[in-house]
Amino acid sequence: MIRISDIIDKISENNPDADLDIIDRAYIYSARVHDGQVRLSGEPYLSHPLEVASILADMNLDVVSVAAGLLHDVIEDTSATEEDIKEMFGQDVFNIVSGVTKLSKLPFRSSQARQAESIRKMILAMADDIRVILIKLADRLHNMRTLQFHNNEQKKKKIAQETLDIYSPIADRLGIYWIKKELEDTSFMYLQPEDYSKIKGFVRKDQEEREKYIETVKNYMTKKLGEADLKCEVLGRNKHYYSIYQKMASQNLDFDDVYDIIAFRIILDTIPQCYETLGLIHSLWKPIDIKFKDYIGRPKPNMYQSLHTTVIGPFGERIEIQIRTWEMNKVAKAGIAAHWSYKEGKNIDENISQTYAWIQNLVENQENFRNPSEFLENVRIDLFPDEIYVFTPGGEIKSLTKGATPVDFAYTIHSEVGNQCSGTKVNGRMVPLQYELKTGDIVEIITSKSHHPSKDWLKFVKTVKARSRIRQWIKTQDKDRSLSLGREMCEKAFRKYRLNFSSSIKSKEMENVAGHFGFKTVDDLIANVGYGKITPLQVVRKFAPEPELEEKRESIFNKIISRVKKKKPKGGVIVKGVDDILIKFGKCCQPVPGDPITGYITKGYGVTVHRAGCINALNMNPERQIDVEWNEEIDEKYPVKIRVRSYDRMGLLADVVGTISKLEANITKAKTATDENKVVESYFTIDVESAEHLNRILSALKKIKNVQDIKRIG
Ligand code: MN
Repeated sequence: MIRISDIIDKISENNPDADLDIIDRAYIYSARVHDGQVRLSGEPYLSHPLEVASILADMNLDVVSVAAGLLHDVIEDTSATEEDIKEMFGQDVFNIVSGVTKLSKLPFRSSQARQAESIRKMILAMADDIRVILIKLADRLHNMRTLQFHNNEQKKKKIAQETLDIYSPIADRLGIYWIKKELEDTSFMYLQPEDYSKIKGFVRKDQEEREKYIETVKNYMTKKLGEADLKCEVLGRNKHYYSIYQKMASQNLDFDDVYDIIAFRIILDTIPQCYETLGLIHSLWKPIDIKFKDYIGRPKPNMYQSLHTTVIGPFGERIEIQIRTWEMNKVAKAGIAAHWSYKEGKNIDENISQTYAWIQNLVENQENFRNPSEFLENVRIDLFPDEIYVFTPGGEIKSLTKGATPVDFAYTIHSEVGNQCSGTKVNGRMVPLQYELKTGDIVEIITSKSHHPSKDWLKFVKTVKARSRIRQWIKTQDKDRSLSLGREMCEKAFRKYRLNFSSSIKSKEMENVAGHFGFKTVDDLIANVGYGKITPLQVVRKFAPEPELEEKRESIFNKIISRVKKKKPKGGVIVKGVDDILIKFGKCCQPVPGDPITGYITKGYGVTVHRAGCINALNMNPERQIDVEWNEEIDEKYPVKIRVRSYDRMGLLADVVGTISKLEANITKAKTATDENKVVESYFTIDVESAEHLNRILSALKKIKNVQDIKRIG
């Protein structure tokens, strides 16, 4: 078992000025709370946090990371509380430990490939401090190293699969290739033991011969480069097993066909030397790809830099060569962790701001990336999430736009779930439907058959899907309502003419009638009766051709038409979702443009528009309510009734009438009376353009001498 003194030695070796006190305290605390706990290996539990801390120290991370590594399991697995950690070790350590704890509590159901990308994004999105991820990786690395102590084969495979699907890609993305490789090889060993041991055997066989080969090539390269005055170090190594396996699988190769299992690396001092070396290598050996990969000119989003090329080597074999500077080599080893490690003469704060400056730079230079989607995959979504990731109660991950609500979530599950969404629980607690979801939330939708979408939902939903489904539902709903209203109206009209509507509606004749009015279906015809676009009488007429009825019908019809004509405006109001509908205005409240209004479907006469506060409107059946709004493009004048109370004097009425006329309102009706106390009460019906126009008139009237009180009636 590794000892804390080993870890402390490592830290002070890398950074003699490190504050080791926090490490000591974290170790003592961790040892105390984990006391008595045992790993599956039989070792004391403390061995695990120690190993994790040791990995972090190897990565040359700061003391906060190492302390957090020692404490990473205490909240989840011991009696320690978040408050304890915050109090004893400060905000930074606390944030990281609680971040790691949150990650391990996420209810991932499986690591199935379909979900893997979402899980990776979710993990990255949840860690607001990248050190949380680094500790999680170190944690997983040690758990993989000790996976053999699990006694359940299936569980081993499950953990290995999860590592391969989730954690090694994260390590790759962050540029920490040594962790990626180790995680891949260990997972591979548990998942495909036969393939693993075949490849391992294959690599080990001829090992001596291969080493000789590596020496030969290395010496040759060093010599040639030396002749060109390029001081360098050449390294040759076997590729890791899983990458050999992937190559075999992707190119359908047999073991004997995979000969390029060795990769060479040339490390130099400066960037110009790298390009010079590349030119030299290409002159020695024929490159396979016309295009080599220039990650120096175009660094990977995780800041990896190198030149990559593949050439036909001295014995006709393929050789992969990476060319980089020492600095690039350091970055390639540590990846993003390089930014959290000690650097001479720099404190951690500077390190942090540098990391963010680097990320910022990547975001701003997005267009410089050849493949923007690759860039987005790698950096932006991970570190600047504009998406959130939430769970279904079954553990499936759904990704949603930032700011999305449970209603948005419900519609991503299914339109019906959205349409019947009546309430919601987030992490087991009831919350309002407009609650803003956060990454990691477990969302449960409560549905009820009797519950329906509401127009109010449109005010807070964020996703296009939810919005369009809600609109669609409202539209269908309007149609359904018009349909039943139309049916009711037709039934009544048919009864009047002693005709049976229920049998007529099924007849071929009715279909013809629908066609006659230009509708595709009988339902459309009836719905349009409901909307008031055509009258039930127009329909009845097609079924009742007898002359006596004809006459009676004609007179009723004309009466209705004349009423309708008189009331029909030239389109000053728009009924949402319906074109060309008959509109009339409530006599009770006489709305004028600018007034808040509401519409009601009336039997036979289309839609009646009332002022929103009209007492008659409030008493209407809400089932018939329909949204309307003023059409601002139409100039119309609307009648409105006003009452003027004044104290009589010479010329009073002339002044009142004159004021109204001067403001360009036509008086269509006037009634005035004076009582014995000389109080004059006058009623005028005037045509105005708008509520604003009316207000101008009212305030002008108020200024007339002896006028006491003015009121709009209705
Ligand atoms: Mn752990």
